[in-house]
Amino acid sequence: MGDHMILQSADVIKEIVSTIDDAKDELRLLSLEIFNNPELIFKEYKGCKLLSDWLENRGWTVNRGVYGLETAFEAKFSVLEGGRTVCFNAEYDALPGMGHACGHNLIATSSLASAIALETILKNHQIPGTIVVMGTPGEESGGGKWIMATNGAWKGFDACVMTHGMRNFSTPLCLTKASWKVRVRFHGLAAHAATAPWKGRNACDAIVQAYSAIAMLRQHLEKGHSIQGCILEAGKASNIVPDYAEGLFSIRAPTMKKLDELKPRFEPIFKAAADATGCTVELEWTALYEDVVSNNTLAEQYRDYMVQHLGVEPEQMPTLEESRVLYDQPGCSDFGSCSYICPGIQAMFSINATDFPHSIGFREASSGEFAHQEALRAGQANALVCLDVLTNDKFAEEMKKEFIEAMKEAGRWEA
Ligand SMILES: [Zn+2]
Ligand SMILES: [Zn+2]
Repeated sequence: MGDHMILQSADVIKEIVSTIDDAKDELRLLSLEIFNNPELIFKEYKGCKLLSDWLENRGWTVNRGVYGLETAFEAKFSVLEGGRTVCFNAEYDALPGMGHACGHNLIATSSLASAIALETILKNHQIPGTIVVMGTPGEESGGGKWIMATNGAWKGFDACVMTHGMRNFSTPLCLTKASWKVRVRFHGLAAHAATAPWKGRNACDAIVQAYSAIAMLRQHLEKGHSIQGCILEAGKASNIVPDYAEGLFSIRAPTMKKLDELKPRFEPIFKAAADATGCTVELEWTALYEDVVSNNTLAEQYRDYMVQHLGVEPEQMPTLEESRVLYDQPGCSDFGSCSYICPGIQAMFSINATDFPHSIGFREASSGEFAHQEALRAGQANALVCLDVLTNDKFAEEMKKEFIEAMKEAGRWEA
């Protein structure tokens, strides 16, 4: 979409901004309640209850424990019949030993802000449409959204957006890699290592062989591909042939298509190492993080609202092209899975932290007033972008067309 334009009137933009402004103290309390009660992967009972109860008390229809996860929820609000459906994802999980050092309390608040602003507009102007807040637990190492996606979440939605805090820069795009973790278990046979070694089958040898073969494979990887790993266990005593060895590995590539090419070069290594040593091997693939496919139509609109109406200086919000050069990062986000189901963006807003996410500096900034204001501003922009999706057929069509093309290119389009 070359000729972007603001689709909402100045009055509607004002209404969205003031709805969120009016709720800012209440949203701050929710944010701090989550921040002060950090909960880990798939145990976010308080966060799930807090947010879903809050929406239910506003008259939203809430389902808890959805799409295979006990601490997930789906809250819906509809006005009139028909209309399109837009979704805001709320995260609320923390990091082990670090609390909210990824600022997921801000993601939750930003999405609630968008949701109530849109609720107000749809009600006041009798605009048909459905708003969804999806509570998505276990982003950190759990691949929560991937699990939810495999259980049918986001199907049939027209768009899904969210935001994430960032150290000291903002961007309308989030560029991430695809990655997949595997837990590997080799089973051998114990024997006395000195008196009867021929009776043993050495699981330590198996995992060392696999580890070495992976190191050799690394030389032949494409740019942007990588493999990480460690051996967790490989025996207990030098006079016993180790009958068990275990390791954790992950593979990364720029896209799912590329990851699917890397996987068949990586996976046979373990079987070969098992065969060579007379052991057996089990692979447990867990927590797939698909790359985020950002919808440019949505991202450009997000930037336009930020720069033209929400007071962000153009130089503080890079264009899509600039973002791709400046902020292509090796990290992952489980929002990727969502972005393969419907058009979406995960914009980043600066929280002015001294360090990147997963640091003490980032945690400190995540509870501050500045971060809260920026989360709300990002929420205003996302509300406006989603209102465009609900009210403008041409915009919605462009967004959808771009999504279909991206999915065809990724080999993921199912008509
Ligand atoms: Zn994180
Ligand atoms: Zn995060």
